[in-house]
Amino acid sequence: MNKNQIKKLVQTNELLVKQFGIPKRPEKLPDPVDMLIATILSQNTNDNNSYRAFEKLKKRYKTWNEVADARRTSIEKEIKVAGLGLQKSTAIKNVLTELLQKKNKISLDHLKDINNESAINELTNYKGVGVKTASCVLLFSLGKNICPVDTHVHRTVNRIGIVKGSTPDKTFIYLNENFPSKIAHKFHTNLIRLGREICKPRNPSCGICPLKSVCSYESKELQNVKTTSEKSFMLLDNVV
Ligand code: SF4
Repeated sequence: MNKNQIKKLVQTNELLVKQFGIPKRPEKLPDPVDMLIATILSQNTNDNNSYRAFEKLKKRYKTWNEVADARRTSIEKEIKVAGLGLQKSTAIKNVLTELLQKKNKISLDHLKDINNESAINELTNYKGVGVKTASCVLLFSLGKNICPVDTHVHRTVNRIGIVKGSTPDKTFIYLNENFPSKIAHKFHTNLIRLGREICKPRNPSCGICPLKSVCSYESKELQNVKTTSEKSFMLLDNVV
């Protein structure tokens, strides 16, 4: 990002904090393997369903080693509520098995000591782990200053005009180049809330948006003042 883009990002962050506050974080960050599995479960479903699937899996198996040894179909049965059972159970079994083969233990603690780029490269080498999943592990469990880009973040930062990326993965690259220090968690979390409650995919409620003075979206719907009262439960800050 250039200076102007960074300035716009910082301004956006300040307006979002004014509107939504500083999102809470758990005092002790969750284990990165827990976070990886929770993020795989969260793909294409809502936070409540993926949280229920994660809890069921943790209740059924005492350790991730047990999950690695389990039959894929048994894992699929436990995570059914999160949808895409075949795809997600395959990815979970695969990543745990590969970790065991490569590191002799199921742990991602070593990622704390390497830079973001190397950590993302390592994680995305596991089948079924994309850039968004990898960056969620870095932000939510390793406390790195990195902003994952899901569909809400992709849509909102492009509309606001902070970066222009044609896909979430391109947006991720542009956004995380020179990302301002210490604000990734609040920026990411508040943007998702904005995307769910105000800057929705269709008919954004620009009339009540705290960013309307800085947003460059050409099709602003300033007459739309509808509020959506979403529950602000965020899965990835509730993985324990
Ligand atoms: S002004 Fe409208 S388009 Fe821009 S961020 Fe707000 S809701 Fe989204």
